[in-house]
Amino acid sequence: MKKGNAHGHHPQPLPDVALRVKALEALLLSKGLIATDAVEKVAEVYEKEIGPLNGAKVVARAWVDPAYKERLLKDATAAIAELGFSGMQGEHMVVVENTEKVHNMIVCTLCSCYPWPVLGLPPVWYKSPAYRARAVIEPRTVLREFGLELEDSVEVRVWDSSAELRYMVLPRRPPGSQGMTEQQLARLVTRDSMIGVGEAKAPRKAR
Ligand code: FE
Repeated sequence: MKKGNAHGHHPQPLPDVALRVKALEALLLSKGLIATDAVEKVAEVYEKEIGPLNGAKVVARAWVDPAYKERLLKDATAAIAELGFSGMQGEHMVVVENTEKVHNMIVCTLCSCYPWPVLGLPPVWYKSPAYRARAVIEPRTVLREFGLELEDSVEVRVWDSSAELRYMVLPRRPPGSQGMTEQQLARLVTRDSMIGVGEAKAPRKAR
């Protein structure tokens, strides 16, 4: 991709930081202090578990606090900042709400725009050319591949993230989650549900 194009919104990667990380990783590997699969495991945990924690808190708050939800849907950047989450790649957030009738999913068709402060780093598939193209052309098929079967009556809306706007999905609160605390609810919120390729987890039955 040419530099200086309209979509050239990714700040130049910090070459120093990237190089340092690589150098550190190489050093640790060469000393036998870590194994590559351990590095990958850490990256995966970050990607799936730690990164999206902030987003999960935002979602849980919206589920229990209607006034917060209203602010979130109106001005997501400000409402997310209320919980202390802001920063690079999250300056202009828009939250779209899933309902019985509408299912939202997010993509960046041109590269990999993603709301870092709430979801962490994007998963590999999110950056893949296949997802970026197919999410727009055949969203229902893509959703089915993720295990999400939607009724025909549900409208699917696909939101294309960019430098200017980064989307996050507010998934539906799962049935059977009445009476759960905000903290418990946050654990039901998966990364995929906030990208819109999945739903929030069903609560486990009380033991
Ligand atoms: Fe992008």
